[in-house]
Amino acid sequence: MHDDRTLVEARLKRVLEERIRPAVYPESVPLTVSVWTAPGEPVPVAEGLAAPRSPIAVGDAWGAPWSTSWLTVAGTVPEAWAGRTVEALIDLGFDANMPGFQCEGLVYRPDGSPVKGLNPQNQWVRIAAPAAGGEPVLLHVEAAANPVILDYHPFLPTELGDKETAGDKPQYRLARMDLAVFDETVWQLVLDLEVLGELMAELPADGARRWELLRAVERALDAIDLQDVNGTAAAARAHLVEVLAAPAVPSAHRIGAIGHAHIDSAWLWPLRETVRKVARTAANMTALLEDEPDFLYTMSQAQQFAWIKEHRPEVYARVKKAVADGRFVPAGGMWVESDTNMPSSEAMARQFVHGKRFFLAEFGIENEEAWLPDTFGFTGGLPQIIRNAGSKWLLTQKISWSQINKFPHHTFLWEGIDGTRIFTHFPPVDTYNCSMKGSEIAHAARNFKDKGVARHSLAPTGWGDGGGGTTREMVGKAARLRDLEGSAAVRWQRPAEFFAEAEAEYPKPPVWVGELYLELHRATLTSQARTKQGNRRSENLLRETELWCATAALRTGLAYPYERLDRIWKTVLLHQFHDILPGSSIAWVHREAEATYAGLAAELEELIGAAQRALAGDPAGGRELVFNGAPHGRSAVPAGGAAVAVAGPGDCAVTAREGGGFVLDNGLLRVVVDGDGLVVSAVDAASGREAVAPGARANLLQLHPDFPNMWDAWDVDQFYRNTVTDLLAADEVAVHAEGPAEVAVRVARSFGSSTVTQTLTLRAGSGRLDIDTEVDWHEAEKFLKLAFPLDVHTERYAAETQFGHQFRPTHTNTSWDAAKFEACNHRFVHLAEPGWGVALVTPSTYGHDVTRAVRAEDGGTTTTVRFSLLRAPRFPDPRTDQGRHRFRHSLVPGAEIGDAVREGYAVGLPERRMTGSAEAVRPLVELDQDALVVSAVKLADDGSGDLVVRVYESGGGRARGRLATSFALAAAVPCDLLERPWDGTRGEVVADGDGVRLALRPFELVTLRLTPAR
Ligand SMILES: [Zn+2]
Repeated sequence: MHDDRTLVEARLKRVLEERIRPAVYPESVPLTVSVWTAPGEPVPVAEGLAAPRSPIAVGDAWGAPWSTSWLTVAGTVPEAWAGRTVEALIDLGFDANMPGFQCEGLVYRPDGSPVKGLNPQNQWVRIAAPAAGGEPVLLHVEAAANPVILDYHPFLPTELGDKETAGDKPQYRLARMDLAVFDETVWQLVLDLEVLGELMAELPADGARRWELLRAVERALDAIDLQDVNGTAAAARAHLVEVLAAPAVPSAHRIGAIGHAHIDSAWLWPLRETVRKVARTAANMTALLEDEPDFLYTMSQAQQFAWIKEHRPEVYARVKKAVADGRFVPAGGMWVESDTNMPSSEAMARQFVHGKRFFLAEFGIENEEAWLPDTFGFTGGLPQIIRNAGSKWLLTQKISWSQINKFPHHTFLWEGIDGTRIFTHFPPVDTYNCSMKGSEIAHAARNFKDKGVARHSLAPTGWGDGGGGTTREMVGKAARLRDLEGSAAVRWQRPAEFFAEAEAEYPKPPVWVGELYLELHRATLTSQARTKQGNRRSENLLRETELWCATAALRTGLAYPYERLDRIWKTVLLHQFHDILPGSSIAWVHREAEATYAGLAAELEELIGAAQRALAGDPAGGRELVFNGAPHGRSAVPAGGAAVAVAGPGDCAVTAREGGGFVLDNGLLRVVVDGDGLVVSAVDAASGREAVAPGARANLLQLHPDFPNMWDAWDVDQFYRNTVTDLLAADEVAVHAEGPAEVAVRVARSFGSSTVTQTLTLRAGSGRLDIDTEVDWHEAEKFLKLAFPLDVHTERYAAETQFGHQFRPTHTNTSWDAAKFEACNHRFVHLAEPGWGVALVTPSTYGHDVTRAVRAEDGGTTTTVRFSLLRAPRFPDPRTDQGRHRFRHSLVPGAEIGDAVREGYAVGLPERRMTGSAEAVRPLVELDQDALVVSAVKLADDGSGDLVVRVYESGGGRARGRLATSFALAAAVPCDLLERPWDGTRGEVVADGDGVRLALRPFELVTLRLTPAR
């Protein structure tokens, strides 16, 4: 037979496009439209409905960036349409090729009840089926003129990302405002032909099924009268019945589809717009659930539910009902889909606490899956946190975005740093916006790495970010793919049901140990430094606030600020969303974040001050108390307590160095700063060992050009390293403090349009050199690093993460090692040879890189740690990071891992002083083993007055110790993160008088609920 395949395929494409799809709406009449534009920010629904309207017509421009217009559309269903299905078609000026990321609308009835959202791929509103004819139509649309930030010329700098710079040029033109007849038979024919045509294209050209489909499609096309598509569509469909009825082969891949809209809690729009995006999508999805009985939808992020509840109660009522029906499924159990690299141990835990608690309280549902489809990499600390939150599964697809290496599994056990294993699934469809296209379904089946031993995968299906979620077309296609020869079999499935089925069919899945590093978006550890520092500061202040407020509550009866802490935590958790903390949002978001963090800091300082005042007593008492909020004792002040300040002897000295520069010495550490202000020597007195590599200079600022190929705020591409400028020239190198309590040298430099001042300080009794760097940054597309070339020979180094640390290679042996050229640290990076190591600690930055070189002169190894201070990407915020910044980084030669842990906490939790009448404040709890670290001391969230203490093993070994309480203890119960009694703790937790004996595994965390005797 002659091969006419391409001819028939081309025919299908043209006839669908030019004749069949347009015939879905064969007749239409225009609606009249009027408009009111809110003068500023969005107004309440009632106000928008009531505002006076002015005429506007199709073709007219509307919508200054970020403005809101209330449109009213009115008309009458023609008498001739009686008995037919009638829909309104409302095209606000959408670009259908880009679902989401542009204008959107929410349709209301005159009584203020919501109908559904309007989105580029979802422009219809059902009016009547069947219509009586002659009925009036009156609808209102709250239309948001969100400007396109990321368009067809992506990553060009734009001023549209902040209402303060966006101008007032209208962004859209009304495109279509009609009443139309909806021909369901033609609509069904479109779906038949799309499903078969798309499946056909994925099948082998020499396979019989492909040809069967081709001939069936050809017969259908032959049956269509191109001048009367509506009259012949049913006949065309009849030719497709048989091929659509052929069942899937027994070995077909099984896809659990779940309706979804990945909605970024802020990104290319401000937080306030997400509130509306979520409401529009939820309105759409609850409407679709009513229309489509098989369909199921899932929504993650408790914060988004809370927003609808607060701001759109009329939509929330529909959501609550659909959740109760089991069809609108809350997923994930986190407050937001947060970043996981940067949040602290406690913050990561609280993401689950507040997320799960919300779903339990609102819906009585406890999620067991962590749902993080889009997060930029996953730390080795996360599995234990997931498990301690009472969850057991993880879903993400983001690792499929890795630039270099293809992950070897789609379904596997993920083992964290403590040995906890979590059943994990990466949807092989490689997207969280599946649209049920044949190419996506075939890709999922082909791509699935676990074929032969497993058969199930999940496909989150629907347009996110203002695309409106799942469409009725996707539901129609899924129905055809349920059991279709040549295709994977698709059915709607809840995430928990998917996981249970996938786990059951795969009893021995492969294991991946350690972090799930995303080989992309590495610059999100550095971009928007002020947002990141706001997060760090808030986390530290929350630790102190909980500690001192709990102490004051138990000791003095001061009221514990439950509600304020709840609200502040949720605000901090929200800002850990995977486009806010990573620094990849528009200027508006980061401007607001900075202000929000400043407000939180002021409020937390006030709470800390009030608690410490209650503990310190009357200021007239005249005793200066030192409060230590860190988990280790220091300067004779116990951890979590306060004591009268004792001035140490102070033996710091600074002397001039021959040839320029200075020598700083405190008996523990001797640091030599040269005439350029660089550290040429740092000798730890205890061992006599030099930390700085011979011939190298530490505290070196290095400037790189930084213009990635795409994703400016997100990415730094490896080639950035090819070009570097060492900032050597100093404007000033001078003594800043002369001892004896501390000595310091100040170094000033200027480069490009920027200036930097550094203060290098050595304090009495401390083995730590603190380097405070203040930068007035006015560069574009540059990357600023602070380098420490160290004389340490090691193949791996440790970087702190949640409840422990993870190791990464210092070499680039494999493509996996080489890809980790920028990575995350919490408070420290530590590198060591047996018996001796160096820690670098910081309360300021997250990004770093570590490289190694072997010296020709002496054969030794130079391992260089470089902290990432600042970048200056111009998209999506054209002025990212411009202005003043402060950083602290500290060098601790001779540090074991325990020293790294201790100094890491110490730099982020400085001592506080307050004058009062108390002689001391005894800590509520004390541990007798340094490796056991307290990560939180707080009152139980249930208001019972119980004390909750979280402890973890911090060194990566086994540790035994005793936690002693300074109050009479009635009961001590191990709990999960939600503070519920829990038998999942594997370590030993044994009540022992007024205390608890603990024996923990490496990095094991345990949450204790301690009930004081009353
Ligand atoms: Zn996202």
